[in-house]
Amino acid sequence: MLNRRGMLTALVAAALGAGVGTAPATATVTTPGQGAKRRLPWRNWSGSQQSLPAARVAPASVAELQELIAGANGVVRAVGAGHSFMPLVPTDDTIVSLSRLSGVVNHDPRTLQATLWAGSRLGDIGEPLEELGQALVNMPDIDEQALAGCLATATHGTGVDIGCMSTFIEGLQLVDARGQLVDCDAQRNSQLFDAARVSLGALGIITQVRLQNVAPYRLRRETVWRDFDEILDIADSEADKHRNFEFYYIPFSGMGFTDSHDISTEPVSSTEKIDGNEGVRDLQLARDWLEWSPRLRELVLGSYMKTLGDEITVENSWKNYTSERNVRFNEMEYHLPRENGLQALREVRTALETQHPEVFFPIEVRYVKADDIWLSPFYQRDCCSIAVHRYFEEDFKPYFRTIEPIFRKYNGRPHWGKLNTLTQQDFRKLYPRWDDFAAVRREMDPQGRFLNPYLASLFGAGRGKS
Ligand SMILES: Cc1cc2nc3c(=O)[nH]c(=O)nc-3n(C[C@H](O)[C@H](O)[C@H](O)COP(=O)(O)OP(=O)(O)OC[C@H]3O[C@@H](n4cnc5c(N)ncnc54)[C@H](O)[C@@H]3O)c2cc1C
Repeated sequence: MLNRRGMLTALVAAALGAGVGTAPATATVTTPGQGAKRRLPWRNWSGSQQSLPAARVAPASVAELQELIAGANGVVRAVGAGHSFMPLVPTDDTIVSLSRLSGVVNHDPRTLQATLWAGSRLGDIGEPLEELGQALVNMPDIDEQALAGCLATATHGTGVDIGCMSTFIEGLQLVDARGQLVDCDAQRNSQLFDAARVSLGALGIITQVRLQNVAPYRLRRETVWRDFDEILDIADSEADKHRNFEFYYIPFSGMGFTDSHDISTEPVSSTEKIDGNEGVRDLQLARDWLEWSPRLRELVLGSYMKTLGDEITVENSWKNYTSERNVRFNEMEYHLPRENGLQALREVRTALETQHPEVFFPIEVRYVKADDIWLSPFYQRDCCSIAVHRYFEEDFKPYFRTIEPIFRKYNGRPHWGKLNTLTQQDFRKLYPRWDDFAAVRREMDPQGRFLNPYLASLFGAGRGKS
């Protein structure tokens, strides 16, 4: 790994005849404003959202949560791990975390279903589930999120035959705006169930979720560096061939890599791996020194990437989907009808490379199966998901303003947790069951106690004062 980095540095230095250095990747803590002595500021992972709530609370029991909701003043917003980029959580009133309601509640070895506390972090449930003879069907690319946080935004991994994580839900329990506990599944309160599986925290605070799991399995992950044109040629067939398949394009390099996962009985093992965080810093370095010459940048990056060998890792599933993301970013991701994905990607690449030499983060492309959940971006359509990123200290708006119209032209629906500029009118056109969801929401929370200003803008009048 160090040798590989050294090689890139040497290539850049040779191209420039100069020394190089890397940029820091840690966030600075926001300085709180007036009243900060009594209030604990809240901010999300990337720093794109923040607020100064009157109260931040973490109930230790469902009864405590019910009491809290029944008695709270103003808006109540649930928070998971704060990993969404959109203003789903911020409020100046009350932010409630279920971090103290975590772990497995019960499980059924016959059906391979398990009920989990909604505040469980993904990274904390793989091992206990394995001990009970179960595993999640799929996972996203990090495991920091809270389970309820993931489900609220239709968080997904990749795999043409696998739905987003909300499709694993068999039943759930929530506390509504009156502080009442409500259960729902396909038989009981089925309309609520269709709405609540992807619900942005707008129907109530979810306390427990029953998931359909599978028996523990091992995955063989293979990473292969390739010319981008080759990736475009094989992407669709590779996606159909592997259980999980995704790929990345590295801007201004002509190169990318494919990542596939398949079930394996091979022993746990790993070849030498590139550290993704170091890799992103390398790309930043190349941008800093070679932004003025796209040709030289492609020559240097392309030559370097052609030297990179395949990586193979065999591990238990829950250890082989995710990695740590230490270099912070802001992100926009749209889920496009699968048949539009590659054409949209070509246009995104051209727009990026002709208009945005400042960008260095890779473009990520994944596949997700259609489902029947009212506010799922995958509602009734198999999708190809394309994500673009910008370093958290750099202004994401100009780049995302260029790319979003391409996603929209190809009929994309944005990831609920990731940056987009759509309004209620836009969403109503994209979601056939939008009005059904809105009706359930009004019934569950007539006074709009779960609506902050952003959600009030989507779902109509409510308090949403802050
Ligand atoms: C580094 C990084 C990597 C990511 N990778 C992926 C990926 O691979 N795939 C993908 O699809 N997304 C990915 N995301 C996006 C992320 O998975 C979603 O934004 C997810 O919603 C974040 O979960 P969270 O626990 O942080 O929830 P938060 O961002 O804190 O909250 C998200 C929503 O959940 C609601 N919520 C939280 N808890 C509850 C509850 N108990 N009851 C009701 N509502 C609740 C909140 O009110 C809010 O509306 C990534 C984000 C980052 C920063």
